[in-house]
Amino acid sequence: MVYLRRKLFGNSQIRHHGSMILTAAALVVLLVLTAPLITNKVFAAQDMSGATTDNSQQDIEGSSPERDASTGSDSDTVPSCPTQNAAAPDTSAWSLLLVNPWNKIPDGYLPDLTRVEQDYEVDVRCADDLKQMLADCRNAGFDPRICSAYRSHTMQAELFYLNGGDLKDTLNPNTPSNDAGPRAVATPDTSEHQIGLAVDIVDGAHRQLDDSQADHPTQQWLMENCRHYGFVLRYPADKIDITGIIFEPWHYRYVGKQAAQEMYERGLCLEEYLN
Ligand SMILES: [Zn+2]
Repeated sequence: MVYLRRKLFGNSQIRHHGSMILTAAALVVLLVLTAPLITNKVFAAQDMSGATTDNSQQDIEGSSPERDASTGSDSDTVPSCPTQNAAAPDTSAWSLLLVNPWNKIPDGYLPDLTRVEQDYEVDVRCADDLKQMLADCRNAGFDPRICSAYRSHTMQAELFYLNGGDLKDTLNPNTPSNDAGPRAVATPDTSEHQIGLAVDIVDGAHRQLDDSQADHPTQQWLMENCRHYGFVLRYPADKIDITGIIFEPWHYRYVGKQAAQEMYERGLCLEEYLN
């Protein structure tokens, strides 16, 4: 009897345990089957939020391909957005003020000036970068000298007339390539020198303002490195039709470091960059 009770009890325990094992096994199977679905949904939600954050940063910062690669795990599960081009330049920025034969200086524009070397003055906002560029050029063993910087309207007018300028053949906003052709001296109120953001720099032992400047090591250092200080060679030989000014391998214009770098990398003059 005892044996039978034990046997029955034992059998009952076995049945009870067996039922629990079967239930647990069923739960495990269910979990195994549904886990990938749940996990994917969770990861997908994380990816979506991560992708949104990354893309918004990309829009602002114009992130590099290396940066995109570092967040590549996100793009494995979420369709990636097309690569954004660099943000359009802020054409209202003071450092990107366009002054050329077809764009006069705004009426009443008077830059806040500061002296950099000798009596040469520039807009105070680009003075430190200019000083640093000249110092680094000298530290590299060269002898850069400013030979022109800020000019007032009167100074520009005198220079223009001294060089045979005639107002009749100068400013025609509707004709990009005016009859006068590319100019060596800008007409009054169309010179970047009047906004204090342009400097002419030559070598101390080679001061001729002609194409030979381009071959001088001082000028070559400046042309290669000026972007690091926010400057560009403003009138390249291959942009004469666009700038309206002859090749001037001595005239540097401050546009800010980001714009200078982008213009250098994309081979653009200021007119093209702002277009
Ligand atoms: Zn100049």
